[in-house]
Amino acid sequence: MPAIMEGLKARVHCPMCTRTVDGLAVPEVRLGRSRLRVMPGQKCVRCSASLDAGYVLELLPETEQPAAVAKGRHRAA
Ligand SMILES: [Zn+2]
Repeated sequence: MPAIMEGLKARVHCPMCTRTVDGLAVPEVRLGRSRLRVMPGQKCVRCSASLDAGYVLELLPETEQPAAVAKGRHRAA
């Protein structure tokens, strides 16, 4: 089924200004292995370059993620 592409908040390395900026990552399954890639179409908040060529350094903690992507959690508010 076509899932809505939801990003996970992550720290993304920008190849243009070589800074680490906040961005969105999406999981990508290839050859049976799941890895993270930068969600296409984002721009670096510092230099406005495309982050498509960057890479995901790490995901932010689950508490920083939107409620929609927190698995098995139900938020009271
Ligand atoms: Zn940049």
